[in-house]
Amino acid sequence: MKVIVVGSSHGGYEAVRQLLMDHPDAEIQWYEKSDFISFLSCGMQLYLEGTVKDVNTVRYATAEGMRAEGVHVFVQQEITSIDAKAHKVSVTNHVDGSTREETYDKLILSAGAIPVQIPVPGRDLENIYAMRGRDWAIKLKAKTVDPTVKNVVVIGSGYIGIEAAEVFAKAGMKVTVIDLLPRLLSLYLDEEFTDILTKEMGDHGIYAATGQTLQSFEGKDGKVTKVITDQGEYPADLVVEAAGIRPNTAWLKDTLDLDQTGRIKVNDYMQTSQPDIFAVGDSVMAKFAATGKEAPIALATVARRQGRFAALNIEKPTHKFPGVSGSSALSVFDYKFASTGVKQGTAGKYGVEVKSVLIKDTQRPAFIPETQNPEVYFKLSYDPKTRRVMGAQIMSKADVTANINAIALAIQGKMTIDDLAYADFFFQPGFDRPWNIMNVAAQQAVRNEQ
Ligand code: FAD
Repeated sequence: MKVIVVGSSHGGYEAVRQLLMDHPDAEIQWYEKSDFISFLSCGMQLYLEGTVKDVNTVRYATAEGMRAEGVHVFVQQEITSIDAKAHKVSVTNHVDGSTREETYDKLILSAGAIPVQIPVPGRDLENIYAMRGRDWAIKLKAKTVDPTVKNVVVIGSGYIGIEAAEVFAKAGMKVTVIDLLPRLLSLYLDEEFTDILTKEMGDHGIYAATGQTLQSFEGKDGKVTKVITDQGEYPADLVVEAAGIRPNTAWLKDTLDLDQTGRIKVNDYMQTSQPDIFAVGDSVMAKFAATGKEAPIALATVARRQGRFAALNIEKPTHKFPGVSGSSALSVFDYKFASTGVKQGTAGKYGVEVKSVLIKDTQRPAFIPETQNPEVYFKLSYDPKTRRVMGAQIMSKADVTANINAIALAIQGKMTIDDLAYADFFFQPGFDRPWNIMNVAAQQAVRNEQ
């Protein structure tokens, strides 16, 4: 069997690893169009802030290492089109400009996504950057130490925008975050959490320009100097655009069925409309465990799981993708938060009704000195009709984010607030309280529904 895998980030890497394990005799060809195999944008903030010194280490694999395992690795070689009927792809070698065809028995696409560029006047000015991939990582790093950069404007307050804002605030620059939505991080956290984080960011020199529509970029001598919204103008020596992504699928529109968002349609086995072509990662939807429906969840966790399932199903569709809860975590200066599933603020977007319980408690029993006993905020969302656990958010100056994994599991296992109310979690006063905060919230939810 000859398998071609397209894309060397999370989804592609995972598929190759699983193929090596399950099909050691298969011929695996792995293609990456850029000049670097397996860069992980997830590690970008750690590199930009200096925790990781060498950008070339922010990866899972090297071409040499994978070749030593028997994978045929092609770097700077782009798959430009697919002839699904003939089981052939066209390849362009960007090193010498040559083109060729390759045949395949099975094809796995993990071609990812491209940062959205908002089409407003002035967008061709210099110093309007994106935050994805190694090339942008290197350019952004240079700006963190550029003395001419005093004001940075970030467009978009999802976790990528907030990572960018924190990087440049820590580098001593004045940062403005512009978002169309009324709150920072509003797709991840409800108001009780974002109010605290917005203040925390404000205390560190990040100004939230929320509820504002980007109108244009203005510049001088070809370089951006100002960002104009419907409500104000903000000085900018650098703009980081992190206003979402679009799937990298324009080149596939005549080959595969795409949905109205441009994502590749896949079944539960990660097969596209052409059964020998699989697709995973940011260019497909994910089965969202909270609603049982598809949702655009652009996370490495999703890409890796889908990559694994594409490889597991490569010969026969036997392994159904189990769905994901869409969990993510982030630190914002001293705070650490995580969230999963449906929140009060996102229920409308998913077309579901949820009720929520907010618990504020200390991390440990009251006898522990205040300085070692930070506050924890936990909000549990549930479906009042079925009582099913639908989502949760947690935040503290302590790292209590791992609780969210338990809620992700509860969502996947279709557990109810009644199940969660008395679920058995450990207690040790150095770590937590006799009733875990998840129990406390679920017990409150049960009382509310009596
Ligand atoms: P991509 O990562 O987009 O990779 C696609 C690859 O395919 C690219 O290398 C591209 O060059 C190559 N390619 C595309 N087309 C072709 C072609 N035709 N031929 C050959 N090669 C091609 N997720 C988390 O879960 N946790 C995090 O902490 C997290 N942090 C993030 C931080 C940042 C700054 C960013 C940008 C993203 C972060 N993510 C995180 C999201 C995560 O990085 C993505 O969900 C994940 O990278 C998607 O993987 P993918 O394989 O679908 O595609």
